[in-house]
Amino acid sequence: MPIEFPIVDLLSKQSSYEWLLGHFHPQGLVCPRCGAGLEQARLFRIRTVTEVEDYRCGHCDKTYNVFSGTVFEGRRLKPEQAVLLVRGTVKGEQAQILANEVGCAAKRCKTFVLKYKPMRRYFSPIHRS
Ligand SMILES: [Zn+2]
Repeated sequence: MPIEFPIVDLLSKQSSYEWLLGHFHPQGLVCPRCGAGLEQARLFRIRTVTEVEDYRCGHCDKTYNVFSGTVFEGRRLKPEQAVLLVRGTVKGEQAQILANEVGCAAKRCKTFVLKYKPMRRYFSPIHRS
């Protein structure tokens, strides 16, 4: 029987955030609506539960964050949870074990894993033309 190890609390929020930023937004975080750069946005809020920074575009008023345009958009995950979900899904870990490690509800996690495991391309960086 595999050992379940709740490592989410051991990961750094900052390094997880930076990994997500580099992986999903290698060209830098931009507005998903108009493409304006982060330098044209302002910090709008920091989400209470996830502690993710939301930015508001100064050009079109769209609110966005590091998860915008990714498979994690709107899922209320902390950066370290998202990193572990990517890692666990790519490695083919069992949904229940992954849910325990990531610390998200098992059903929600299992749904995520089953939906996206065969579609690993969703974990690829966002490509903009
Ligand atoms: Zn915009």
